[in-house]
Amino acid sequence: MTLWLAGKPPVPRASEILAARCVILPKQISKGPKQQRRFASSSQRRPASVLQVHGEATAATQAPLPPPLSVVPNWVLLRSLLVSAISSKPLLLRPSLWAMSILSKPNRGFLLNVDRNPILHGLLKKTFYEQFCAGENGAETKATIKQLKDMGFRGVIMTYAKETVFDHSTGSEQGLGVAALEAQKKGEILDPALARCANIEAWRKGTIETVEQLEDGDYLAVKLTGAGPQVTKAFSVGDLPPQQMLDAMDEVCTKCEKRNVRILVDAESQHFQWGILRMTLDLMRKFNRNGYALVYNTYQAYLKSTSDTLAKHLAAAQTEGFTLGLKLVRGAYIASDQRSLIHDTKEDTDNAYNSITTGALKQNIGEFGSSKAWPSVNLFLASHNRESVMAAHQLHKQRTAAGLPTVPVGFAQLHGMSDEVSFSLLQLKGSDGSPEVYKCSTWGGMGECLAYLLRRAIENRDAVLRTSDEYNALKGEFGRRVRGMFSFSK
Ligand SMILES: Cc1cc2nc3c(=O)[nH]c(=O)nc-3n(C[C@H](O)[C@H](O)[C@H](O)COP(=O)(O)OP(=O)(O)OC[C@H]3O[C@@H](n4cnc5c(N)ncnc54)[C@H](O)[C@@H]3O)c2cc1C
Repeated sequence: MTLWLAGKPPVPRASEILAARCVILPKQISKGPKQQRRFASSSQRRPASVLQVHGEATAATQAPLPPPLSVVPNWVLLRSLLVSAISSKPLLLRPSLWAMSILSKPNRGFLLNVDRNPILHGLLKKTFYEQFCAGENGAETKATIKQLKDMGFRGVIMTYAKETVFDHSTGSEQGLGVAALEAQKKGEILDPALARCANIEAWRKGTIETVEQLEDGDYLAVKLTGAGPQVTKAFSVGDLPPQQMLDAMDEVCTKCEKRNVRILVDAESQHFQWGILRMTLDLMRKFNRNGYALVYNTYQAYLKSTSDTLAKHLAAAQTEGFTLGLKLVRGAYIASDQRSLIHDTKEDTDNAYNSITTGALKQNIGEFGSSKAWPSVNLFLASHNRESVMAAHQLHKQRTAAGLPTVPVGFAQLHGMSDEVSFSLLQLKGSDGSPEVYKCSTWGGMGECLAYLLRRAIENRDAVLRTSDEYNALKGEFGRRVRGMFSFSK
C-alpha cells in the first residue's frame, strides 16, 4: 500500500505475471520453452531500471518476465489511463478534439488563450501536455528525459514544437509564430538582403537549445517548417530555403556531430515535402560518411510516391558514396494532405511500410541489392504498430545471428503513446544491446505545442483498434496494481 502511494508499482506475483503475459506480451513469448528460456535469461541484461523495480531476484531465479507496463510509475499510469480512456471513446474524444482545435487557432482572447489563462494552462498541462510533451523549458525537459532513460530507454528523440501545417482543403497554413503572423499581415517579412529573418533566427535558437539538452546517443528531431514563411514559401515550390536557414541547419549539424547526437528531419505536409527532402538529401551528402548517418530523412510509407523517392535516394547514396539515413513512418498528415497522393487503404500503407522495412533489413529494395550494389543505409523505424516493429526486430536478429547482411536499426514510439509496445521491445533486449528503443518527445510552450497535440489526438481517433488495445493494456496493468495493493495490505 505504501509503495503504491509512494509511486512505485507493486512487484507482480508469478501467477499474475503469467496471466498478464497471456493477455499482453508479444506473440513470440507463447511459442515454446526454448524462447521462454531466452526471454527469462535476457532479463539479466535488461536495463538497471527494470531490475531496480522488480528486484535482482527476478534475474537470479530466472522467473518469467513481468508485464511490460509494470515499469511505468503509478502517476504516469493513471494519466495514461485517463488520456487513453478519452482517446478510445468517441463520445469523449469528439468534444476534446473540437475544444483543442478551437484553442489551437491563433489570436484567441484571454479566456481561450492557453498561454495566458492560468486555469486552462494548468488543466491542459497536467493532462494532455504532460502525457505527450517533455516540458515548457529546459529544466522541465531535462527532468522528463531523465525519467524516460530511468525507465530503460536507450535515449530520447527530442523536437522543438514550432511547426507549420498546410491544410490542403482550405489552402491555409497553421501554426506560424507570432512574428511570422505579424509579418505576413504586412505582406512579407524582413527583406533577406537587409536583415536576418526573425523566424529563422527564433527556430535556430530553439533548435540549438534543444541540442544542448541532449546527451550522447540521443536524437534531435527537426521540423524545418517551424522556421516560418520564408522557409515554407521555398519548400512549397520544391526549392531550398534562404541561405540563413541553410547556415542555421549547418550549425545544428556541426553541433550535433560534436555531441554525438543524430538528427531526424521530420516529414511534414506534402505541400512542403519536396523541398524538405531536397534540403535533407544535401545534408546527408555532406555529413553522412563511413557507414554512419548523422542526418536521416523521413519517408512516409502512406504516400504512393515513396517507393520512387526512396529508389532515387538509394541511387544517390550508392553513386555518391554517402550513407542514407532512412527513417520510416506511415505518415501523420492524412487529415490535411491531398487524399489522392496517399494509398487508398490502410492495408496498402501497411504493405508499403513492411516491404520497405524488410527490403532494407535484407539489403534488397528494387534493383538495389540485386542488379545494383546496395548502398550504405542506417534504418530507423518509427511506429506504434506491434506487428511491424516485432517482425522487424525478429528479422534483424535472425539475420545478425546467421551472419547475413543487414543494416543497423533503431526503433521509436512517441512519448505518451504505445508504451506497451515500447516496453515489450525493451524486454527483448539482448547482450548486443538490440533492439535499441527510443521515446520521441516534443518540448515548447503550451501554445507552440497545440498543433502537435491536436495531431496526436486525431491520430488516436483514426487508430480506434490500437487505442482500445492500449486502453485495455493500461486497464489490465491498473487492475493488477490494485489487486497487488489489497494483497499487500492484508
Ligand atoms: C517516433 C515517431 C516519429 C514520427 N515522425 C513522423 C514524421 O516525421 N512525419 C510523419 O508524417 N509522421 C511521423 N510519425 C507518425 C507516423 O507517421 C504515424 O502517423 C503514426 O506513427 C501511426 O502509424 P503507425 O506506424 O504507428 O501504425 P498504425 O497505427 O498501424 O497506422 C496508422 C497509420 O496508417 C495510415 N493509414 C490509416 N488509415 C489509412 C487509410 N485509410 N489509407 C491509407 N493509410 C492509412 C496513416 O499513416 C496512419 O497514421 C512519427 C511517429 C513516431 C512513432
